[in-house]
Amino acid sequence: QTAYNSEMEQQRRKDKYGTVGAVALDVHGNVAAATSTGGITNKRYGRLGDSCIVGIGNYANNKTCAVSCTGHGEFFIRSVVAYDVSCLMEYKGMNLKDACEKVVLDKLVKIEGEGGLIAVDTLGSYELCFNSEGMYRGAKTSDGINVVGIYK
Ligand code: ASP
Repeated sequence: QTAYNSEMEQQRRKDKYGTVGAVALDVHGNVAAATSTGGITNKRYGRLGDSCIVGIGNYANNKTCAVSCTGHGEFFIRSVVAYDVSCLMEYKGMNLKDACEKVVLDKLVKIEGEGGLIAVDTLGSYELCFNSEGMYRGAKTSDGINVVGIYK
């Protein structure tokens, strides 16, 4: 069983994630998030990932931010990632950057959860935060900022 799990783990680390996520802020201060995924390659039949679960792979709250996640869903589920980012902002007064870094670069790393997220807050700050080798990402703002990236 252990050998099987470790083989699966090695395979998982080689696999590329195929998730597409988007977050947006409109001129009225409304935030929105969307996340779509095929899940993880070789996933168990019937597996439910994090992407479709509100508060985990996907969350938007006009008091704080919108978040869309990608990565190893089981760990994102355990960490309630997207809602945690929002809660750190709402209840602890953290800014978006600190909240994202706390969750992705600290809490997830401690449980070996690999992946990242994109987020935008109600003031228009955005974060493209990940603890994996890379994350295909982009951002565009009304002030003319255009950003794309793959690796760190
Ligand atoms: N988070 C997705 C899942 O676990 C996979 C991904 O983001 O690539 O189903």
